[in-house]
Amino acid sequence: MVLLTGGAGYIGSHTCIELINSGYDVLIADDFSNSKPEAVRRLEEITGRKIPLVNIDVADKEAVEKLFNENEIDAVVHFAGYKAVGESVQFPLKYYRNNIDTALTILETMERHDVHNFIFSSSATVYGIPESVPLHEEMKTGCTNPYGFTKLMIEQILRDAAFANPKLSVVLLRYFNPIGAHESGRIGEDPNGIPNNLLPFITQVAVGKLPELGVFGNDYNTHDGTGVRDYIHVVDLAKGHVAAIGYAKENKGCEVFNLGTGTGYSVLDIVKAFEKVNNLKIPYTIKERRPGDIDECYADPKKAREKLHWTAEKTIEDMCRDSWNWQSHNQNGYE
Ligand code: UDP
Repeated sequence: MVLLTGGAGYIGSHTCIELINSGYDVLIADDFSNSKPEAVRRLEEITGRKIPLVNIDVADKEAVEKLFNENEIDAVVHFAGYKAVGESVQFPLKYYRNNIDTALTILETMERHDVHNFIFSSSATVYGIPESVPLHEEMKTGCTNPYGFTKLMIEQILRDAAFANPKLSVVLLRYFNPIGAHESGRIGEDPNGIPNNLLPFITQVAVGKLPELGVFGNDYNTHDGTGVRDYIHVVDLAKGHVAAIGYAKENKGCEVFNLGTGTGYSVLDIVKAFEKVNNLKIPYTIKERRPGDIDECYADPKKAREKLHWTAEKTIEDMCRDSWNWQSHNQNGYE
């Protein structure tokens, strides 16, 4: 059975479906601090399966111990963690305490129970300000905010743990920019308050909840001056986790993989693609640069292709269409 910490969240919920489709039994542990039980109900509706769920904070050692005592867990995908960059700058200790604590608690409990497969949700943010693109896994790391540092620190903790314990298999997955939603339109990204990320902001403009998009800067060193990112369909990303579990079961030690498409799109490319595929207009104005943003960030996806036998398949049109399908049918997310 695969334990998904934070399995009710955006990436966790999509991964849950792909794991079930691939024949895995799953168990979700989530404290719903940034997700909704309704997401799990809908996972059951989509998969036609009862999905075991425990409402715990995975930093709670006793609760996690009990979870491992009561279930036959053989792999963990650790999604649980705080993820808002701006908030992490304001409340760094909250981020370090929570993100590091949850990872350590899970890892220590796994060691006690002889569970050896750990898949970690890392982020392309660990590359900091890239010296060049595309980004490959051996490139220099360095972060610009506490959120990013928690990811980098946990990567290091896992690397050291795998070095010390030859039975351990760790796969670090560096996500680029996940967008889109399951084709059913029943699950998707449901941020609290005003979205920080581009796609949820665009879909909330489209649905009329926000008046217009602010494009953060048009003087970047890119083809149209707006920031370039590697947007990846969340279902492709989810499938990357299935591949990672297979890899962990066959290989000991610690490996790191980029999960991206290898193609960069600018903010205005995304606006245009979204407008075209959904036949909508997204009003926008150019604003100041957002502090900490970089010109370009996109993956070299070669290592994942060769070693995980995984590649992203969906197009930018699929991503824009599926993001809108979710938002237009769920104007207030899961509420
Ligand atoms: N962006 C924007 N307006 C928004 C949100 C984001 O112009 O309301 C831009 C942002 O400057 C960046 C890109 O969209 O160039 C992706 O931003 P996001 O926060 O989604 O991802 P990240 O910056 O973490 O890669």
